[in-house]
Amino acid sequence: MPADSQQGHHPVANPVASFWATEPFALQDHQSSTDLPPRCDTLIVGAGLAGVGTAYHIVQGGSDPALIVMLEARQVASGATGRNGGHVKPDTYFNVPKFSKLHGPKVAAELAGFEASHVLAVKQLVEAEGLDCDFHLTRAVDVYLDPAHAKETEAAYRELVKEGIVNLRDVAFILKQDAERVSGVKGAQCCFSFTAAHLWPAKLVHGLLEKLVNRGLQLYTTTPVTSVSPSRDPDGMWAVQTSRGAIRAKKVIYATNGYTGSVLPEYTNKIVPVRGIACHIDSPKGSNTPHLVNTYGIRFDSRNNDYLIPRADGSIIVGGARQRFWHNRDRWFGNNRDDELVDEAVSYFDGYMQQHFRGWEDSGAKVKEIWTGIMGYSSDFVPHIGEVPDKPGQFIIAGFSGHGMPEILLSSKGLASMVRDGTAFEQTGLPRIFKTTKARVEAQGSPLEDSFRELWEKPPSPKL
Ligand SMILES: Cc1cc2nc3c(=O)[nH]c(=O)nc-3n(C[C@H](O)[C@H](O)[C@H](O)COP(=O)(O)OP(=O)(O)OC[C@H]3O[C@@H](n4cnc5c(N)ncnc54)[C@H](O)[C@@H]3O)c2cc1C
Repeated sequence: MPADSQQGHHPVANPVASFWATEPFALQDHQSSTDLPPRCDTLIVGAGLAGVGTAYHIVQGGSDPALIVMLEARQVASGATGRNGGHVKPDTYFNVPKFSKLHGPKVAAELAGFEASHVLAVKQLVEAEGLDCDFHLTRAVDVYLDPAHAKETEAAYRELVKEGIVNLRDVAFILKQDAERVSGVKGAQCCFSFTAAHLWPAKLVHGLLEKLVNRGLQLYTTTPVTSVSPSRDPDGMWAVQTSRGAIRAKKVIYATNGYTGSVLPEYTNKIVPVRGIACHIDSPKGSNTPHLVNTYGIRFDSRNNDYLIPRADGSIIVGGARQRFWHNRDRWFGNNRDDELVDEAVSYFDGYMQQHFRGWEDSGAKVKEIWTGIMGYSSDFVPHIGEVPDKPGQFIIAGFSGHGMPEILLSSKGLASMVRDGTAFEQTGLPRIFKTTKARVEAQGSPLEDSFRELWEKPPSPKL
């Protein structure tokens, strides 16, 4: 379902089921009342981690939950949040050289520090609110399989150590001679490890939202927002049109991820829907496979990588497979179809554990569930947070580029303080490059698309 150049994509009906939705949730189809209220103070569009996190922090700051209305086009957490890998994996070193080149080392260090701080922030939230969401604190092990890429990354890492600008105290580097034994991944050329976490994201969001709804937040699922008035009415309210009528709101928050362009057309080419795939692998009962205690990034080369989360029950979540289809632009980029599996990738995870992990050869591990999800890729690689340019009282928190788990929670805290107290973006402590600005919204071209152009124009040989 391609977008035209003016208007982005809406969520499609009937997305394929993900493993995380195999248990029903009390709020998934919730309607707080038969009809929408005619007006509200704060309207949040989107019930994923960004929308729910923002509502939570607005209320934490002392606001009455009853002043908030949340509208969700499908079910709660039916977007990327309910279809992701559950991997809270901060980018502590890998993309630091890239962001350093784009914005300077200080900004890159700020971003890496912000992401790293998420792991314990999520843990703290889970504990403070008593959320039952399978949270586990762990080490993420990034494993490099391509010798040239391993060498390149090691050299870049040693450079970072020498410069001393980024805090690398939590990052451990493991040389080739030990990498396969330490990681358990066959053919490892080197690896890095650092603190990370994993959890059941839909349970986190539902758990938080239930508390807010119980305190008066008004939630309406299957209520897509179709448009918002171009200006405020004389009372200073925005008129929001939905599938079940209109509602006026003093403040509107777009937590709409890859679908943002459908309601904020100026972001259509700035946040693009991109398809991701993940699966759940399990072994037959009684199989004696080694239990993995770390999470993984499996880096095949400088472009292609998967991520893997071992669950406490012994089953495995793996996300990735994009090398099967991402060179075919329309199958991947600007595509909102999470109501179908990506056929080219369906067989990708067959025998995955047997192929890559020591000791899993006879495990009988098999894919149990596989699903598609829609990420919101930002054209300049970082999310848009803050007040929408030229639309006072409208705010955005979107575009986490398939990497929201180590960015959203504290971003939503910063945004909540802007919405509730009028705090300036610069006072929120958020990475400065996250601020949505007129310059970013009006920028010509897309560094993101530029980075894929060669892949799209010269697709790799079918061996991948
Ligand atoms: C397969 C897959 C695997 C991933 N794995 C990881 C991972 O392991 N770690 C990680 O950090 N990140 C991962 N991500 C990315 C991560 O899931 C996202 O960054 C994060 O969930 C984004 O949260 P969000 O609330 O911004 O968006 P979403 O969860 O997509 O929520 C947006 C919501 O807005 C609703 N909406 C949109 N438009 C409208 C409208 N007009 N009216 C009403 N409602 C609307 C949507 O229905 C949706 O529910 C993965 C993503 C996918 C798809």
